[in-house]
This record gives sequence, structure tokens and C-alpha cells, in this order.
Amino acid sequence: MEKKIVVLGAGESGCGAAVLADKLGFDVFVSDFGAITDKYKKMLDDHGIRWEEKQHSEDIILSAGEVIKSPGIPNDAPMILKIKDAGIPIISEIEFAGRYTKAKMICITGSNGKTTTTSLIYHIFREAGLNVGLAGNIGNSLALQVAEEDKDYYIVELSSFQLDNMYEFRANVAVLMNITPDHMDRYEHKMQNYVDAKFRILQNQQHDDAFVYWNDDPIIQNELPKYKHGKLYPFAERNSGGMAAYTEEEKIIFTEPTPFNMELEELSLTGKHNLYNSMAAGISANVAGIRKETIREALSSFAGVEHRLEKVAKIDGVEYINDSKATNVNSCWYALQSMKTKTVLILGGKDKGNDYSEIADLVKEKCSGLVFLGADNKKLYDFFGSFNLPIADTHSMQECVEAARKMAQSGETVLLSPCCASFDLFKSYEDRGTQFKDIVCKLQ
Ligand code: ADP
Repeated sequence: MEKKIVVLGAGESGCGAAVLADKLGFDVFVSDFGAITDKYKKMLDDHGIRWEEKQHSEDIILSAGEVIKSPGIPNDAPMILKIKDAGIPIISEIEFAGRYTKAKMICITGSNGKTTTTSLIYHIFREAGLNVGLAGNIGNSLALQVAEEDKDYYIVELSSFQLDNMYEFRANVAVLMNITPDHMDRYEHKMQNYVDAKFRILQNQQHDDAFVYWNDDPIIQNELPKYKHGKLYPFAERNSGGMAAYTEEEKIIFTEPTPFNMELEELSLTGKHNLYNSMAAGISANVAGIRKETIREALSSFAGVEHRLEKVAKIDGVEYINDSKATNVNSCWYALQSMKTKTVLILGGKDKGNDYSEIADLVKEKCSGLVFLGADNKKLYDFFGSFNLPIADTHSMQECVEAARKMAQSGETVLLSPCCASFDLFKSYEDRGTQFKDIVCKLQ
């Protein structure tokens, strides 16, 4: 076998794919238009894999039999368009790795709640003593695990970008949390394109697979009849018949395959959105045959995920919460909705075509002030300027935390839940959240 594989993008997923392809005996070349970090250069060098950075050598790339594209590269990047024109198939790392493992795949997608739900499911499977790997947007790349230490189960977080380049991959358990507008800039500002990408999680499902989804999502309801899928496991707050999980009298009722109950107050994660995440995780574990006692214990012992409604500190009677991962408007809605006190909301960053009307009522109800944190805050002023709330205009985390501190009264909460991507002022949402935490902790 001397098929030539070109990997575009040398991050976690690209390098993992390259290592697996190399191990399988393919002729592999890795090309990144940006700079490659030392860690990944070393990984490629250790395997004797050829690579280039800060350029794309078209002659080599266009001679590939197949191209593995990292999810960060847009579908309309010039090199991608040339590869498509040349008729060379483009796949994702997950698609590639999925060909070479017999493991059961539990795959999670949705606009919000993916990482939390994926981490919760992983936690339950580990507590159950199963040989399980965490992959996709979090953890090590699936391909690297398949290459080095294949598992019996993978819990895979799938973004719409990963799903875009998946064709034959089969999710034994597919979990779809919700669909609300996100990344419109990468889907030609057409919601249907984004919806279609999310539903690719169902392609190739067989009748003995499972589809776990939030029953109250109007888009999912509308789209579902168009697709073939495994057995349905819907969940919702209220039982409208046939729910695999719902709540009643302060309990979650799991109905199938194994019926059991769990007290809501035993859940480690709070807020309505986390109730959904816990239900989806509990159902997925139930479908995999994990004992109900283990599921209950694991749902109450889960430690939470950094940068998601993470409590940072209480200073001068003000609670500071880091929800830096709220990179779209809907996740901010859930964060605000779970606030129990008046809140100074920090928002702003790189706008992805946001429509703020979704949070307008909650901002009026819950917020005592707003701190805008972005390179350009004009759109925020245009929308929230007339709300009659104090507003601070800031362009760095230091300025932002100082402004929030001045604004917040004792008994209130300062919530960083920015609705936007972070790339205008920060390296990543992690960088934004970490800077927030560091500066807040120095206030003490
Ligand atoms: P994702 O990986 O899809 O971005 P995360 O689990 O990282 O989702 O959560 C990101 C943010 O989205 C959280 O901080 C929270 O504010 C919000 N969120 C989490 N779960 C849900 C959900 N099920 N529905 C809506 N919003 C949610």
C-alpha cells in the first residue's frame, strides 16, 4: 500500500492522523500554513514524518490520494478549494481513525453542552471500569489513541466542522444536545447548512444504534423525520410520553433500557442546561449497559469542567464566575438563566454574526451592569446602549475586571459569559478564562 496521504494542519488532530497513517504504512506529508508548535514538530520528527510550515507546497499536496483536513481550516480556504477542484477526497481525522478501530463510538454534538456532556459520559464510563478514551475536540486525538493504545469505547466530541468531513463513520450512540445559530460565518450565513452538518452525526446509523437527543429542540424535531437513525432516546424536562429521561417531583426518571431514578439534588452540576447534559450522559451510559448505581454515583461525583460556569472566588461579597467557554449567545442565555443574584455581565470579543435579541429579556431581568470586553465594542453598544444599564467599555482583561469590580455590589455576581469568540484580544477562550481567574484572584 503506497497511497499518499496529505494532512493539512499540524495540531492535535492533524499530527495524530499523521502518526496513525504512518503506522499503517502510508506515505505521509503534513502541511501547515501557520507555524507548528515544537511539541508537534517533535512528534512528527520522532516518527520520521515529513512536514512543512508557513506554506502549502501545492505540487505535493495535489498529488495526494486523500487529504485529512484539520477542523480549524475553513472549507473555503484557497488550498481546500484547489484540492476539491482536483477531485481529491477530503476527510476528517475522526473519519480516518474510525476506519481502523472496532471500538464502540459514543459521539456528542450540539451547539452547546458538548464538552460538558462528553466529559460527563467519559467520567461515568471510567467509574464503571471500562477501557475508554476521550477524543474529538478534547483529549488526545482519536487517531493517536487508535495508533498507540486502542480502546474498547471512545467518547468523541464532534464539532460541526469535524462532521463536515465525515462520510462512512458510524456513531453507535449519537448524542445531539441542541441546535442554535453558531459559526454562521463558516456556513455562508445559512442556518440550514449548519443544521445539516450537525445531523451528519446520524449518517450510517444502524437500527441497533442509539440516538439520544433533546426532545424540546424545535429544529431537531423538525429535521428528525428526514433521517435514518437508530433507536430513539429523547430526553426533556417534562414527560410528553416516550422520554428516556425526564424530571418529576425533584427526581430524574430514567425509563430505558434500565429504569431508575435519581434525586435532582444529587447531581453535581447545577443549572437547567446541566440537567440536560446530565440526562444525556445518564442515558448514554444506560444504553451501554452500565449499572444504575454507577451512573448515579458518577453523576454526583463529577467535578465539572474548567471555564464552564466555574466559580472563581468570592471577594467583598461578590461571586466571580468564569464562563469563558460561552462563545455564543445561547450559552450565555443558559448561564444568565442560572444566575440567582443580580449580575454584572462581561461580554464581547470576536462576533460570529451574533443576534443578541435572544438574551435581551434576561439581561433586563438579571443584570445590574454590563462590561464590554473586545477590540471593537460598537455592535454591543448599538444593541445594549438603550437598556438603561451602566456600561463600561474595556479592551483588556485587567481593565475589564477592574470595571466589573467597581460596578458590582456586595451580594451580586460578576459573570464572564462573553457570547463571542476570544481571538480579538486573547489566544483562546482558555487564555481569556485563565487571565480572568488570575486577575480576579489577585483582587483578594
Ligand atoms: P460546547 O463544548 O458545546 O461549547 P460546553 O459544555 O463547553 O459546550 O459549555 C459551554 C457553555 O455553554 C457553558 O459554559 C454553558 O454556559 C453553556 N451550556 C452548557 N451546556 C448547555 C446546554 N445543554 N444547553 C445550552 N447551553 C449550555
